[in-house]
Amino acid sequence: MLASRLPGILPPLSDGEALESCAVRSVAGQGVDIARWRQRPFRAPHHTASAAALVGGGSIPRPGEISLAHHGVLFLDELTEFDRHVLDVLREPLETGRILISRAARQAEFPASFQLVAAMNPCPCGYAGDPRGNCACTPDQVQRYRSRVSGPLLDRLDLQLEVPRVPLSELNAMSANGETSALVAQRVAAARRRQLDRAGKTNAALNTGEAERDCPLRVPDRALLERAVDALGLSARAYHRLLRVSRTIADLDGEERIGTAHLTEAIQYRHMERRR
Ligand SMILES: [Zn+2]
Repeated sequence: MLASRLPGILPPLSDGEALESCAVRSVAGQGVDIARWRQRPFRAPHHTASAAALVGGGSIPRPGEISLAHHGVLFLDELTEFDRHVLDVLREPLETGRILISRAARQAEFPASFQLVAAMNPCPCGYAGDPRGNCACTPDQVQRYRSRVSGPLLDRLDLQLEVPRVPLSELNAMSANGETSALVAQRVAAARRRQLDRAGKTNAALNTGEAERDCPLRVPDRALLERAVDALGLSARAYHRLLRVSRTIADLDGEERIGTAHLTEAIQYRHMERRR
């Protein structure tokens, strides 16, 4: 439910982005719904989808789900049920925003700049960590289950959260008292404006040099980040990802400088790696 709400807090597509989105749909042989013009796409392919359906393919290469999600959200529910090799193909577009499809006769490159959202159970039975359920899995089974998501893919997931079961009564109370998507969308738009004013692009699009330039840390915070990266066994890529996430949290706070609280929050979101 959270994943499907995400497009509601994202800013509308620019006209240029909307055109690109339409072009991809057209090449994929899908209709264009003018009522959805400038709405960010949300794609949720099933875990039984073939590699070609997911990333694109065919004798005349056609875009797959990752390209249909261009400028929008790709939601993979039951992440561990997806073919691990298919998941590993996602690594390239997650870095470059593009996918190259090579077939004997032809090659095609499609745009695939999407926000990846994935969900999985904590263990095969689904009850690990739930105080009211009794997890029936052995530590070995849990370990094997979690290892279906490879380290390099995990490395590219900036926000990893455990979402405990919520009793229905609390859920109803939350939706009655919680913020509306429209309100959150305003905050997102303001943070995004800060990023565009500063760098002409979003934080996610900063390369490593730009991240060093735009995400300066105070000396003790830099030492804290280096210790965390060592302790969690993270890559240099994850180091720069943590910088960009810290910058974004500071932007959402309306702060010019990244503070210790922003950085520690970003590190906390590395939940799966903290559990290893
Ligand atoms: Zn279990």
